[in-house]
Amino acid sequence: MEKIPYKIYLEESEMPKSWYNLRADMKNKPAPLLNPATHQPMKPEELAGVFCEELVKQELDDTTAYFAIPEEIRNFYRMYRPSPLVRAYCLEEKLQTPAKIYYKFEGNNTSGSHKLNSAIAQAYYAKKQGLKGVTTETGAGQWGTALSMACSYFGLDCKVYMVKVSYEQKPFRREVMRTYGASVTPSPSMETAVGRKILAEHPGTTGSLGCAISEAVEVATSTEGYRYVLGSVLNQVLLHQSVIGLETKAALDKYGIKPDIIIGCAGGGSNLGGLIAPFMGEKLRGEADYRFIAVEPASCPSLTRGKYAYDFCDTGMVCPLAKMYTLGSGFIPSPNHAGGLRYHGMSSTLSQLYADGLMEATSVEQTAVFQAAEQFARVEGILPAPESSHAIRVAIDEALKCKETGEEKTIVFGLTGTGYFDMVAYEKFHDGKMVDYIPTDEELQASFAKLPKVE
Ligand SMILES: *Cc1c(COP(=O)(O)O)cnc(C)c1O
Repeated sequence: MEKIPYKIYLEESEMPKSWYNLRADMKNKPAPLLNPATHQPMKPEELAGVFCEELVKQELDDTTAYFAIPEEIRNFYRMYRPSPLVRAYCLEEKLQTPAKIYYKFEGNNTSGSHKLNSAIAQAYYAKKQGLKGVTTETGAGQWGTALSMACSYFGLDCKVYMVKVSYEQKPFRREVMRTYGASVTPSPSMETAVGRKILAEHPGTTGSLGCAISEAVEVATSTEGYRYVLGSVLNQVLLHQSVIGLETKAALDKYGIKPDIIIGCAGGGSNLGGLIAPFMGEKLRGEADYRFIAVEPASCPSLTRGKYAYDFCDTGMVCPLAKMYTLGSGFIPSPNHAGGLRYHGMSSTLSQLYADGLMEATSVEQTAVFQAAEQFARVEGILPAPESSHAIRVAIDEALKCKETGEEKTIVFGLTGTGYFDMVAYEKFHDGKMVDYIPTDEELQASFAKLPKVE
């Protein structure tokens, strides 16, 4: 049989022309976003004050299976896509496993992650609507970088609220964003009412994603010609990220490969939702079966230890309520946690799939994640992002199980990005100073007690 190449590339002509909306094939649809004041489903006109019109349509559409990718976005995709699907021959050899391991590598662009796939789509719709600019939050900085790149391409202004601890720890990230013309403000800031309130209540706080979201939303809704954009969690983001899964499936189909297990790290759920989309679609339609595994940090375990409930998406409680697996919008992971994926909730689409038993989830501790990252870097060459390394950890563990049982399973995982800006975390790991932190049940219960009461 023809040997599978190290890298399976698609031709430009084989790149997806539509995004796939997984919700169209779900029997149990994800629960609707609710107005935080009335607890009624958000109407399109209410959401249109916050988000771009076309994106509101995508957000609320549970029935259209395919959305054509506009030509302008496909042209931008052509600059860095199709991304390679790599056969991890060297890792397989090192592990001495009969498993066949593939990874879809999304780190081949300046933002260093998959986030550019949605950033360019959101910037395109903002431009098409005639807006002046957009606001957003960023934690580690990948999303802010991706959005800065997308905004500069379309000539839009971009205001980024960056979690203060990252702003201070990652000055280089900040400068990349400024190179693309974005303004970057550490959050919480004194520029917004919600920032001032949070600072008054928690002086000296180093910020959180939930806080930065509140600030970005406030600025978008109070500034003429601006809307807010978000890099994960939302249905529209999963829709755009389906390009990852569609390309993966096309590449595997080219060689007649059928995966047994598909693994992805899960922060807000966008890369995982995108990677699994077409495969989950087959499972939902009864055409094929796969195991899907979401991997999250033990320090921020929304799927594995969270509650499936309506919650705020942000700390300032200005955003709509979403039904999701959540640790509570006030939950802030331990400052010792360096491995990313710090969001308190999870995409409502993935939450519903998990609740319906269609997807598994597991959590891993950060030292084990960095061990896997280092092992991977040493044989496959790529320096992985800590977030991506959660998926590497579980892919290696599954491959080692195959070694015990002799099963030749095919494992596909998402390698979402590179870790060049995470060397402080790698340094801690190398110096033996990295510690694992797992929240106690009491801490989680205290956070759950503050969940909004929704009938
Ligand atoms: C943002 C990010 C993630 C997590 O976000 P999801 O929305 O869960 O995909 C994972 N990996 C990298 C490299 C990221 O930048």
